[in-house]
Amino acid sequence: MKLSSQTSALGLFGCPISHSISPAIQQAALDYYDLSVRYSLWPTKSESLANEIEKLRSHEYLGANVTIPYKQTVITYLDGMDPFSKEIGAVNTIVKNGSKLIGYNTDADAFIRGIKELANFDPIGKDVLILGAGGAARAAVFGLLKEQVGSITVANRNLKRANMLVEDLKYRLTKVNAMTLDAQAVDFREAIARADLIVNATPIGMRFGDFPFHSPLPSEMIPKNVLVSDMVYVPTETPLLNQAKRAGAKVLGGFPMLIFQGASAFELWMERKAPIDVMINAGEMALAELG
Ligand code: NAP
Repeated sequence: MKLSSQTSALGLFGCPISHSISPAIQQAALDYYDLSVRYSLWPTKSESLANEIEKLRSHEYLGANVTIPYKQTVITYLDGMDPFSKEIGAVNTIVKNGSKLIGYNTDADAFIRGIKELANFDPIGKDVLILGAGGAARAAVFGLLKEQVGSITVANRNLKRANMLVEDLKYRLTKVNAMTLDAQAVDFREAIARADLIVNATPIGMRFGDFPFHSPLPSEMIPKNVLVSDMVYVPTETPLLNQAKRAGAKVLGGFPMLIFQGASAFELWMERKAPIDVMINAGEMALAELG
């Protein structure tokens, strides 16, 4: 990575992203190394995504992050993908190689690192229920496949999308199942009851989203002996995590994953070690400012 004499740019594509604390986290890491690079929010409507991605080809841009809802659609506009992001079918980091745009996925390893290192969860042979079938859900399940998980159930609002994800998993795992995310449905309730790990990869419960005070699960259904991992990081204790705690379950919020995926993205762009502690401090301060 070669920096020009003028300030270079990195940023985050998504919608809505006004709440994102990625700029605080990435800017702290860039400033730690005294790099002349500015990381910004680039809120983008779907109709302008192609044009905005194309702009990255000009020399001042070093790359980008991609978030909800573009982790899958962005792939069309890239020149290449690293093998793991290709397998996942979702990209959260774009790295420039000359003027070429190459997609990576740092969510998958970040998610696995969080559940293993911070929640002491060993995925081998475990039954997992994933809520959602978008880019983040894809990252989680392909990360879990590498960890020899026992079974994966994908529950999504749009059943067709859950089926598409399960089709992509079938050649790697026999115990895979798709269903509608419907708190009243018997198959969904059975999946909750037998899960060792439940992952929320939807924006339900996100403070600045459409359903800030909601949980994707009926509270009386959460088993005691389960790890509940919520990818949402604002608030740090989501309605789902609150319910799970009250049920006596283990919980993990989305903040560690945010830090780990951001650190790996920083290392891909800047080719130097991410100052994790600096990034955590900046992230915690930004969260505190959100209130
Ligand atoms: P995405 O590709 O747009 O997928 C969104 C998923 O959520 C889809 O499965 C969608 O279902 C479902 N969904 C959206 N609104 C819903 C609702 N009201 N009720 C039920 N399901 C709903 O987004 P993504 O990139 O996967 O991100 C998903 C969430 O994970 C976001 O909140 C994002 O901030 C979070 N995330 C956090 C981290 C982290 O580092 N902590 C990393 C990645 C993602 P349909 O298919 O039916 O539309």
